[in-house]
Amino acid sequence: MTARQPIVNKNQEDSKLDFSVRLMEHLVVPTFVLDADCRVLIWNRACERLTGLKASEVIGTREHWRGFYEEPRPCLADLIAQGRTSEIDALYADHDHAGEEAITAHGRRAENWCVMPQVGTRLYLAIDAGPIYDEAGKLVAVVETLRDMSAQKRAQEELERLATRDGLTSVANRRSFDETLNTEWRRASRESRALSLLMIDVDYFKPYNDTYGHQSGDDCLRQIAAAMTGVVKRASDCVARYGGEEFSILMPATELGGARIVAERIRAAVEALRLPHSGSAVAEHVTVSIGVACMHIAAGGEPAAQLIAAADAALYRAKHAGRNRIELAETPV
Ligand code: GH3
Ligand code: MG
Ligand code: MG
Repeated sequence: MTARQPIVNKNQEDSKLDFSVRLMEHLVVPTFVLDADCRVLIWNRACERLTGLKASEVIGTREHWRGFYEEPRPCLADLIAQGRTSEIDALYADHDHAGEEAITAHGRRAENWCVMPQVGTRLYLAIDAGPIYDEAGKLVAVVETLRDMSAQKRAQEELERLATRDGLTSVANRRSFDETLNTEWRRASRESRALSLLMIDVDYFKPYNDTYGHQSGDDCLRQIAAAMTGVVKRASDCVARYGGEEFSILMPATELGGARIVAERIRAAVEALRLPHSGSAVAEHVTVSIGVACMHIAAGGEPAAQLIAAADAALYRAKHAGRNRIELAETPV
């Protein structure tokens, strides 16, 4: 009995490998391959086009990061080659949550904004990196493929912005305010911290519309919103259009005294706009009244609606006390 001939002899295998490399070079999907030592084995044409980095500049080096980032940092393929997949979370904006077994079978998937220093355009890339093992189970290479998702990501971000912003004034919309109130309520409750709320209402706004027209009314609301945004400085503060000509500002970790100072600044900022208002009985220009409430929340405390009711009641008193003023909630809630 003669020994079985291998199906592919050495020369055939070499030419098969050549063919595979050429195939990968012309693949329309941007792809590069690292060896187990994280040196670039293949850097295909589509990858050259995407990154602006020539294959001749990176093959045999560990400089592939230069295609994507300004500073040296591992790419997804490096993390897989080096068994450092626990670092994916810190290095990528988004990623799958595959376990070790899944990595062996399917590799990993992550997404990131990349600087792309050679081409000078920031791109949001979806990245897949999969390991290749030899028959003995030893890692021999990692293949990384890239997909430019910038247009989809921008569209998604714009949709998210539209879903949370008020169309007229660009501050947070009511839905977003309600969500923020719930989140901040839970946080304040967990951390036993104060949470303050301002309810702001434009004085004599119906007469404003009647005198200057609805479009001027809209413009007035835009200017008031911009003035408020200019006053509120902390990133955690949420300025929102509560409805109609009413605005609300939620201020986490802020005591009543601090909230009162912000309220007074807002009242003064709106007054400083000097928007003429001949229909107002309290001033010659547009003014606002503000109700201020603060809650110290013990764990499992009262529902957030109480905070709104308290600020609303204070606003009501500000109106009745003559408008263009602020009032504090009577008893700290
Ligand atoms: P007060 O000083 O008591 O607050 O009097 P007011 O006239 O402001 O109170 P009222 O609640 O009666 O009127 C609110 C007005 O705000 C009525 C409505 O026409 C106007 N308004 C609500 N939303 C908008 C909007 O998006 N654009 C414009 N231009 N006006 C709006
Ligand atoms: Mg109102
Ligand atoms: Mg009003």
